[in-house]
Amino acid sequence: MTEGTERVVIVGSGPAGWAAAIYASRANLRPLVVEGAVIEENRLKGTLPLGQLALTTEVENYPGFTAGRLDEYLDSAIEKNRRKYMPPHTGHGIAGPELMELMRQQAASFGTRIVTDDVIEVDFGRHPFRLKLLGGQQIESLSVIIATGARANYLGLASEDRFKNRGVSACAVCDGALPRFRNKPLIVVGGGDSAMEESTYLSKFASTVYVVHRRDKFRASKIMADRTLANSKIQVKWNSRIDEVLGNEKDGVTGVRIRGTTDDSHSEDLAASGYFAAIGHTPNTDFLGGQLELTEKAYIKWTTPARTYTSVEGVFAAGDVADDYYRQAVTAAGTGCMAALDAERWLAAKGFD
Ligand SMILES: Cc1cc2nc3c(=O)[nH]c(=O)nc-3n(C[C@H](O)[C@H](O)[C@H](O)COP(=O)(O)OP(=O)(O)OC[C@H]3O[C@@H](n4cnc5c(N)ncnc54)[C@H](O)[C@@H]3O)c2cc1C
Repeated sequence: MTEGTERVVIVGSGPAGWAAAIYASRANLRPLVVEGAVIEENRLKGTLPLGQLALTTEVENYPGFTAGRLDEYLDSAIEKNRRKYMPPHTGHGIAGPELMELMRQQAASFGTRIVTDDVIEVDFGRHPFRLKLLGGQQIESLSVIIATGARANYLGLASEDRFKNRGVSACAVCDGALPRFRNKPLIVVGGGDSAMEESTYLSKFASTVYVVHRRDKFRASKIMADRTLANSKIQVKWNSRIDEVLGNEKDGVTGVRIRGTTDDSHSEDLAASGYFAAIGHTPNTDFLGGQLELTEKAYIKWTTPARTYTSVEGVFAAGDVADDYYRQAVTAAGTGCMAALDAERWLAAKGFD
């Protein structure tokens, strides 16, 4: 082991990454977290530092944060220069960005070091492992925890691409409050939990939200589907797909053309100032360059039941990047804890104390 070689590098900054960092730092492994780069490309993809939970408002299902006023606690717990970017606390419970800032701060308090950059390349064919960052830095590490999460999907229409950032979005919480969307009709495409959440959120701002779904019933959990269907501002276009996002250079998105999935001859134009894709996720695994075994959906494969081991000894995976089933903050944090303990035990077993 040469000087400057890390013991544990954690790639990613959602609940999985910070939980891993808290456990690894308390085990005196002095972890280094590569939290992601603050760049426009990541903003558009929804992969800015702090992960997916930072894209939402209230988090009601993370244990330990009941309704109440956390303002004073947040003021004292989070550095002033980061606190000033957080919206005022609502009093409801904990908001996603607040929870993520607290996790980051908790990891930093135990000595976690943080680099604000993306890992763009890995070399797991040698040991110590090597990671290359977007800014050019090279890092060597004895063990690596991948916690890079997942990102929202788009349909892949050329017209979606054309109007990205000019009415096309995959994040209602990031963009829904923009003036161009206020008191206007909006489109959400999808039928799962994301589509329910996005449409409910947008209904606070929009005049009407059309949910365009290709089947005759939602895939979403019953509680979320019922909430959406009971919302008088939301109208569902069943058995329909998006043919094209309509718009022009001056106004951006002006609507969508939908077509029947059971009756192809039926098409309809819906006027709208925004189009929100809510059709699932893609794991952030491209930068691995095929060096870890992936599932058919490109999630990292956990190779041993109830462990966070991957196909490369000494590389561990945690959170949504390896979990396309539970996809929750608490499960991501749980596997982050597991990955740190797995890494610590692996390092000890190999004699890297
Ligand atoms: C709108 C929305 C609302 C949600 N609401 C809830 C909720 O109320 N309760 C709940 O439990 N769950 C909720 N979820 C799900 C929850 O946010 C995720 O399950 C959880 O964030 C997954 O955590 P993670 O640590 O695996 O990864 P993520 O949160 O996806 O974070 C990974 C982060 O790692 C970084 N990264 C990615 N690639 C690289 C790279 N190459 N180099 C460096 N860094 C990189 C990026 O910053 C990325 O954002 C919600 C999700 C969304 C989208």
